[in-house]
Amino acid sequence: MIVAIDGPAASGKGTLARKLARHFGLNYLDTGLLYRAVGALVLAQGKDASDTVMATRAAKALTPADLDRGDLRSEAAAIAASKVAAIPQVRAALLAFQQDFAAMPPGAVLDGRDIGTVVCPMADAKIFLLASPEVRAQRRVKELQARGEEVIYSAVLSDLRARDERDSGRSTAPLKPASDAICLDTDNLNAEMVFKIAVETIGEQIAANRRRGT
Ligand code: C5P
Repeated sequence: MIVAIDGPAASGKGTLARKLARHFGLNYLDTGLLYRAVGALVLAQGKDASDTVMATRAAKALTPADLDRGDLRSEAAAIAASKVAAIPQVRAALLAFQQDFAAMPPGAVLDGRDIGTVVCPMADAKIFLLASPEVRAQRRVKELQARGEEVIYSAVLSDLRARDERDSGRSTAPLKPASDAICLDTDNLNAEMVFKIAVETIGEQIAANRRRGT
């Protein structure tokens, strides 16, 4: 069983995907972490995250230990991630790892931007989370403050908008819902409500696949 959770930054993908993985007894992969690790590796070498040669080299050499770096949740890593993510060679280098992870028994929940469209187009269930930039920025501010970081709402909002633009505007695997994804607007929902709706939706998608024989 493979569940694809996609959506823009701070739409609640990680929280939902972790809960779903626990609920269904599946593995969980936060694919954003791969792009963050590549971005952080490039920055650590003193290079710009848009440097195609350096970013591709970092993506090809990525090891599981790189995902344990302490600085991957920072805004700097997020911005660098969205820059390396626009490089087709970086995406190609990270694709097999994600697909192999999804194929491991007993199955997995993966969250990202292109899980339903590119990484796992045959996923058993696909959910695309939506939320307005303002609501997402408020959520991100709370998350960063909880980690003791000093943040300014307007700066977080403009970083999110810039990241949305880069993620939606890139030519390879842009952020967009798969044609068979269920879109869920979470502006007025808390995490528990989103989880309940998602579990129902996944059950319905799996039942519909069975009826179609897919
Ligand atoms: O999900 P997260 O905010 O950690 O992702 C960081 C960045 O990594 C995103 O802004 C996006 O550019 C990139 N990303 C991607 N494809 C994925 C996951 C993340 O392009 N499947």
